[in-house]
Amino acid sequence: MTADIAQHLAAIQAEMAARTDRGQVADYIPQLAAVDTAQFGLSVVLADGTQHSTGDSAVPFSIQSISKVFGLAIALGRLGDQLWTRVRREPSGLAFNSILQLESEDGIPRNPFINAGAIVTTDAALARRAPREYLAELLTFVRTAAGDEDIHIDRAVAKSETETGHRNFALAHFLKAEGNLTNAPELVLGAYFHQCAIAMTVDQLARAGRFLAGFQRLIAPERTRRINALMLTCGHYDGSGEFAFRVGLPGKSGVGGGILAIAPGRASIAVWSPGLNAQGNSQLGTEALEMLARRTGWSIFG
Ligand code: GLN
Repeated sequence: MTADIAQHLAAIQAEMAARTDRGQVADYIPQLAAVDTAQFGLSVVLADGTQHSTGDSAVPFSIQSISKVFGLAIALGRLGDQLWTRVRREPSGLAFNSILQLESEDGIPRNPFINAGAIVTTDAALARRAPREYLAELLTFVRTAAGDEDIHIDRAVAKSETETGHRNFALAHFLKAEGNLTNAPELVLGAYFHQCAIAMTVDQLARAGRFLAGFQRLIAPERTRRINALMLTCGHYDGSGEFAFRVGLPGKSGVGGGILAIAPGRASIAVWSPGLNAQGNSQLGTEALEMLARRTGWSIFG
């Protein structure tokens, strides 16, 4: 298997390097608009503990919405199933930053991975703590999961989004008006923008996903099962169906161009390429995962 994986990664890397249509960077966050789309990195951790990487696997990138997975794990740890009174578990079929459903559905977001749902989840994870304390817990969680202390928040990215994140301010204020935010919108968004600004390499991110693959016990197994279910159904927003169809694995994307994908019991996979498709998910990242799933037979659908 180890030899096979190295061959698969080399083939995928070669194919991705040749691609000319590499998608568009997320330019609504100025700091992300400057990232070079020529970059590509892929890393896989197997059940035997070995790690296999190719390309720019040691270059840190902004994990953005992938952080929602770790934030959800913390919120569930603090609130348990009570969280589900404030956020649902259904795909939205709309863009990650859409405000459309929020009014007709009384301020209860469809799921914890769209922005509205992640803002509520962050509010819940904050509980009665200062954002600094929540972010410290989040970083400790991610560092423990990755087995690496060298993981930090990129403050320039957080600042950049704080200055331009008007849609998120709109979502947070609407949630507050509907009574689904305990803390002040500015406070919750401060925590949310900093959480999104965590920078990691695919090497680190693949290791941080081990608890979701069942290789490391950080949270209860029934919680990892549920987080994986939400990643499969909601992790790519209005591209979730397409991702399940093409890749067949629970996955969570971020507008920094990263994707964390889980083959339960088999592998934790992280891929990064900054160019995005129309749904805001990494274009080459998706293609690389599709190739990997086809070559390994890791699709959870057989
Ligand atoms: N910080 C980003 C936002 O709120 C995260 C979005 C994403 O990665 N899809 O817009």
